[in-house]
Amino acid sequence: MAEKEKDYEKLLDWKEQTLAGIIFDAGNSRFYHTGSWRTFLPVWDPDKCIHCLRCFYLCPDSAIIVEDAKVQGIDLTYCKGCGVCAHECPKKVQAIEMVLDTATIEAVKK
Ligand code: SF4
Ligand code: SF4
Repeated sequence: MAEKEKDYEKLLDWKEQTLAGIIFDAGNSRFYHTGSWRTFLPVWDPDKCIHCLRCFYLCPDSAIIVEDAKVQGIDLTYCKGCGVCAHECPKKVQAIEMVLDTATIEAVKK
């Protein structure tokens, strides 16, 4: 089956798992929507941002959207709310604030 046709959101039973959970398909992280189980949500303030790109380099899910070396926003499909971006944003700038993601929390409860 071609990589893009696979359902990476599907939970595999033990017979379908690879040994030690090894992932053999390169570049498949875009199929994992890690934003679906987030507790906290980063809110980016474009008026405060100085585009130092620390958040872009350090985000573990490549969720910071950058065009022409400037931050454009945060891709919430992949942002898992870890808070690294807000923590690493320069203290004098603080362009990202983490807030409770009530919408995602309610969706997970259902
Ligand atoms: S909260 Fe974490 S995953 Fe989301 S944009 Fe910030 S660093 Fe990336
Ligand atoms: S770390 Fe903060 S100031 Fe730097 S690009 Fe990201 S949001 Fe902007």
